[in-house]
Parts: sequence; structure tokens; C-alpha cells
Amino acid sequence: MHRSLVAIAALVLAGCAASAPPPPPAPPPGPKAELGSWGVDLSGMDKSVKPGDDFYSYVNGAWEKTAVIPPDRSGIGSFQALAILSETRMKAIVAELTAKPVDKLSPNEKKLRDLYDGYMDETAIEAHGLEPAKADLARIAGLKTLKDVAQLMGSPKLSAGSLYGLAIGVDDKNPNAYSVNVTAAGLGMPDRDFYLLDNPDIVKVREAYKVFLTTMLDLSGAKNAPARAEKVLALEIAIAKLRWELKDQREADKMYAPMTFKALKKLAPQFAWDSFFSESNIPLKDGERQIIVGESTAIPPLAKLFAKTPVAVWRDYLTVQYLHSYAPYLPKKYDEANFAFYGTVLSGRTQQNDRGTRAVRLLDEHLGEAFGQVYVAKYFPPESKAKVEQLVANLLKAYEQDIQSLTWMGDETKKKALEKIRQFKPYIGYPDKWRDYSNYTVVRDDVVGNIKRSAQFDWNRDVGRLDSPVDKAEWGMTPPTVNAYYAPPFNSITFPAAILQAPFFDPNADDAVNYGAIGAVIGHEISHGFDDQGSKYTGEGVLQSWWTDEDRKNFDARTKMLANQYDAYEPLPGLHVRGQATLGENIADLAGLSIALKAYRISLGGKPAPVLDGYTGEQRFFLGIGQVWRTKMREGALRSRILSDVHSPAEFRVRGATRNLDDWYSAFDVKPGDKYYLPPEERVKLW
Ligand SMILES: [Zn+2]
Repeated sequence: MHRSLVAIAALVLAGCAASAPPPPPAPPPGPKAELGSWGVDLSGMDKSVKPGDDFYSYVNGAWEKTAVIPPDRSGIGSFQALAILSETRMKAIVAELTAKPVDKLSPNEKKLRDLYDGYMDETAIEAHGLEPAKADLARIAGLKTLKDVAQLMGSPKLSAGSLYGLAIGVDDKNPNAYSVNVTAAGLGMPDRDFYLLDNPDIVKVREAYKVFLTTMLDLSGAKNAPARAEKVLALEIAIAKLRWELKDQREADKMYAPMTFKALKKLAPQFAWDSFFSESNIPLKDGERQIIVGESTAIPPLAKLFAKTPVAVWRDYLTVQYLHSYAPYLPKKYDEANFAFYGTVLSGRTQQNDRGTRAVRLLDEHLGEAFGQVYVAKYFPPESKAKVEQLVANLLKAYEQDIQSLTWMGDETKKKALEKIRQFKPYIGYPDKWRDYSNYTVVRDDVVGNIKRSAQFDWNRDVGRLDSPVDKAEWGMTPPTVNAYYAPPFNSITFPAAILQAPFFDPNADDAVNYGAIGAVIGHEISHGFDDQGSKYTGEGVLQSWWTDEDRKNFDARTKMLANQYDAYEPLPGLHVRGQATLGENIADLAGLSIALKAYRISLGGKPAPVLDGYTGEQRFFLGIGQVWRTKMREGALRSRILSDVHSPAEFRVRGATRNLDDWYSAFDVKPGDKYYLPPEERVKLW
């Protein structure tokens, strides 16, 4: 007996069969899954890789060898494939609109059509030349004083770049009220590190940025562009030195410095704040209006820099920023100069998306809920919504059970965590109430004007409701978006229709795969409510501590370990993942995966999972997450990601999360000596 047990223990599957009842036979074939026969593209796997050495490549290695990134994309993989599908569907909607007689179009349809047609009419855009931007460029060229500069920077419709960001958001300490937010801004490249690092590849990016600045100034008609570009770059480098690092910009409490408008003026008197706010229409209440200031320690030195920079340099800076914003709607030479840097250098793309793709993206950006309404009617079946609602409910239940069983958290904090879980608000597919676009005017032949009016339309709404109750059901993403989010002040999780498809969610796939894919994505978003930042908000969405000091210390010690793990990953030579900047996402990945696995087990209702094609339920669960993150990225895009994105590169999201889960070790027989093996005491356990 003993002999056979020892022998069987060496063979994991047989061992299970000997000590447990035999697994049920595979269910009879139903409607076929989109990928493989039960949800995973087995042909994409590379079984020559040991799962413990590189789980990502084990799942995706064969796919990676043959996948080709289209020249107009910065990467390809599961997310990108769905994004392309969304674009194809949006194009189909536009084709139907175009086929309809104009007098049969609804007001929203007419706007979609005019915005689309105007953008597609490249002949007219070329013929107009710089004319549509002429008045704005003349205004920039005519700036005489620093007050003029500040006023233009605050103009809600211009998008000409600004040293400070001005936005209307939701007050983190009072989520029932809107807030006016001012934060440090001013950079043309995505993060301060692009200006400051010595890494030879980054130096090259900086050189390319200088070329971009020169080209744009040239195109604006400026004389002596190279010397002037040099000055703009020097200005931005000076701004970059004063800006906070990405990891500090993530700290919700540090980014919350409330003060009256009067106090802001006192904090940074060298900036013309009255001028800056003059076109905003924000009632300042005799200077008593509360402003939430972000990067507060950067605000005063930036104001000093503002005052000592000649107006002429600001004019050049604003000219470039303006042309950057509007280049996509101007003649080709502007569009291409802009793409050469932002598309090619920063994202590695060698070709623009075709015009039709760019046009539907434009509709999604400016009329997203009018367009999205048609999109979901056509492409989001009500059954999908019902099934995902059930999945979300299961994940929340699993979270609740998990919190109750935590050993590192005391009862007092647990009680609050459970309250928070019960207050989560899930939004699935599309918003219940669609946005009203009647105050947005679209003029077919005025593309630049359409973009400016869109910015003004958004701004007017925000200012108009500034002192009114918060619309908590409003969505921050459109239905054709392949993404999801957690909103701390609303304690809500939102899953647009376009992510609720294979390989994330496939109603015909095996449950284990769905739990490992969309289940982990749902778990990820819920976990943001409990990541290093989300955990600072209560279930009502108030930025206010609800943890005992001891529990917080415990939690911080665990997350510190996780940050250290990610700091060690090096996706590009000399460039490591930033463990602290990506911490919230890495926590969400790890916790989400762990909760999704619990939810999968609950769904089995005590019955053993079937074995399919030789894979156990748990193995299929992990294959699900591996496949979701299947991604191949261009080097430029990867570099931008590492420096300016709070998400770790896709492959490290898989490798980094799985190695902290005991169940992954048992599912794939991962042993000491395997590259991603971690001894049990080094595995981070959170939720
Ligand atoms: Zn996230």
C-alpha cells in the first residue's frame, strides 16, 4: 500500500485519482468555444518550456514565434485582437449609417455621420491647409505677457498644453460632491523619466523629441527652429525635474492637498492664477472656492519657472503643443510629423492606422455613448450581461469568504472590509442612462472645430454641475472599449461590452477557463478596492483610513515584498519594472487571480472538476489567465510602458502573479530550481 502511494505521488494526476473519486467524464460537446474546443488555443502553447521556468511562454510560446505585429500597431495579442474586432464592428455600424438616407437619420446618427464624413474627407482637409488652426495659432503668436500665457493655458477648448492641469473631478474626501483639481503638468513626453534618464535608448528618444519640436516649429513657419526647439526642450527638462515621480503621483493621500483659491494664489504667487481661471467659467466664490491640489510641492517651483521663462519660449512651447493636439485633423505633413514621434518613436509603429479605423476611433472618443448605444444593440446579447452579472456576484461572494478567513487581518478591519465588499457596485456592458449630445454641435466640414467644440461641450457639462450632486452612474469608458476599471470614490467596477468576449469571456468555454480569464479580470477590478491605494477608501468611497495600525503595517509589509519582486524584472536591458509605480496593478493581478480561483472552486459545488484533454480544472484555470495576457509588443511601446504606465508588461503580469499562488505550484508541479520558483515564505499572500 505504502509502496504504491509513494509511486503514485510522483505522478500528480494518478495520485489524485487514487485518493479521490475518479473525475467525471468530460461533458458532452455543446456549442463550440471560440478558441480550441474548450476555450484555450492549445496550438499556441510551447510545451517544451517548463511551466515553472516561464509560465507565460509555456502558454503562449508557439503563438509568440509566429505572431506578427501589424505595422500600424504597437503590439498584438488578446487585447489588441479584441480592439481590432471592436474597430471592425464600429466600421460596420458606420457602413449602415452611410447607407441610410440623410432624412432618415436621428439627430445622434446625423452627428456621427457628419463627424465621420468630415474626417474622411482628406481632400478637403488638405485644401484647407492650416486655415482651421490659423486663428488659434495667431492668438498664440500674439501672446505678449505672462498673464496672456496663463490665460491661454487655462482655456478649456484649446488643448494647447499647460504647465498646470485643471480638471473637474469627484472629491476624494466627499464623493457626493464634485471638485476642482489643479495639478502639475507641462510635459510633452509621457513621463519625467524620458527627460532625465541617462539610459542610451532614452537619450535617443530625447534626441528624436528635439527633432519633433524642430519640425513642428518649422511647420508653424517659425524662423531659426532648431535653436528655438532647444529652448523648448530645456524648458521641459526643467519642468520634468520639478514633477513628481509616477510612484508618488499614485499616492491618493499625497495627491490630495485641499486649499482655497486664495491659498493657491499665495502658495505659488508667480503664476497668474486669475488669468488661468478666466476662461474656465468656474465660480471662484471670492477666492473661497476649494481647489484640490496634486503634486503640491511641485506647484510653487513650477510657478517660479513660469515667471522666469521668456514669453517667447512659452509661445513656441504652446505652438508645438497646439499642433501636436490638432495634427491628426490637419493636412498630412502635420499629421505625419506628429506620428513620426508619437507613433513611431514612442510606440514603434511604422504606419498609421487606416483612415477608416482612425475615423471610428474619433467617433468613439467624441460621441462614444451615441455610438456605443448602437454598438451594444448589435453586438452585446442580453444573455452575456446576465452571465457576467452572475460571475461578478460569485467573485464578490468568494471575496467575502476570503476576508473572513484571513489570518493576517484583525476582526475590526475585517468588519470594515466586509462592509466595503457588500457596497461594491458592478456595471456591466453599457450604462443604464446614455449621455445627451444635443448641446454638441457637429459641422461636417469643420473637423478642427468639431474637436474644439467637443472639449468645450465636456467642459460646460462639468462646470455646469460643479455644485450639484454627483452622477455616480456615469461611465468613464465607452462600450466598445476593451478594458475595465475600478472607481474608488464610487466603489464601482465597470466592464464595457467589448471585454466581455473570448478569450476573456466565452459562454461556450469551460468554466475553469472563464474563471481564469474574465474571473481574474473581475477579481482584478474588485481587488483595486483593496490595493495599496484603493484600500485607503471606505465602502462609501471616502478617502479615509479604516484600518487598524497593526493591520496596515502587516499589509504594507506584504505589499513591499511584492514591489521588490517586480523591481527585479528587467523587460529591456537596463530598464527594470518599477515595483512601486506598478504596485496597485500587481496587487490587483495577484489578488484577482487568487479570488477567481476560490470562486471557481465554489462554483464546482464540492464536485471534482472534469479533466479535459489531460488538463485538470486548475491547470485550465491558469491557462486561462496566461492566454488573456498573450501579447507581443514593439520595443518603443514597451519602453513607454515601463516608464510611464502603472501596469507591468503583460508577460510579467502572468509570471509575477502565478508564482505567488501555492495552487499554481501544485497544478504544474513547480519545484525548487525552476526559474520562477519561490520558497513558500517568499510568496506574497494578500487576499
Ligand atoms: Zn488595474
